[in-house]
Amino acid sequence: CGIVGYVGPRDCTDVLVSALTKLEYRGYDSAGIAVFEDGKIAVAKTKGRLSDLVNKMEKEGKPHGHAGIGHTRWATHGEPSDVNSHPHSGRRVTIVHNGIIENYKQLKQFLIDNERTEFLSDTDTEVVAQLLDFYYDGNPIRCIRKVLHELRGSFALGIVFADRPDTVYAVRCESPLIVGQGTGEVFVASDVPAIIKYTKDYYLLEYGEIAVLKNGSVHFCSLHGRMIEKELHTADWDE
Ligand code: GLU
Repeated sequence: CGIVGYVGPRDCTDVLVSALTKLEYRGYDSAGIAVFEDGKIAVAKTKGRLSDLVNKMEKEGKPHGHAGIGHTRWATHGEPSDVNSHPHSGRRVTIVHNGIIENYKQLKQFLIDNERTEFLSDTDTEVVAQLLDFYYDGNPIRCIRKVLHELRGSFALGIVFADRPDTVYAVRCESPLIVGQGTGEVFVASDVPAIIKYTKDYYLLEYGEIAVLKNGSVHFCSLHGRMIEKELHTADWDE
């Protein structure tokens, strides 16, 4: 129901939780994050409220890093539960997803027919994570574009690849997604209020555009794989 992402010098977990707090008005039943910690993806997620996630991380350990993605879920496929919470992972890919994948059953069958049977959850989202992993050949953009052509429905995705540390990919179809540009740091969010505390400058992702957030800056690719320039907007309100 809400997606956020961060790449920059601050403590990523703190930024993700703070940004998700600002998306609480959208309603949700679960929350989770994935953060690159010492080059590896660390996931923390739980059914319940953001405060439940924060409590869980206090007890079980909070991931520390400078790049990651976060999610608040409004369950559409699979009941609200710890396993069905986002992020979801394939072997080398971890994602958060806002929206619905209408053809997830056919895609799941395709994966099973191709000996990909490691499904842990009942979500449509996990099928996307597994599909990304299935097509991943070391080129994230090519893989995301391939999967975009196969997905039907409304969605926005935040994606991290295990072998692309400290890099966050974001893409949208119908569901909204913006990319905030700060000084030496970049953000992803479903909505501008989530990041207004950090920056007022943002890009609006259009259908099929892929954002690559790395080293505190962002570049964009079209659905056809071409690099594109986008217009920077400035919000004219305060937090
Ligand atoms: N369809 C996904 C799920 O049920 C994502 C729902 C959402 O937008 O939060 O997990």
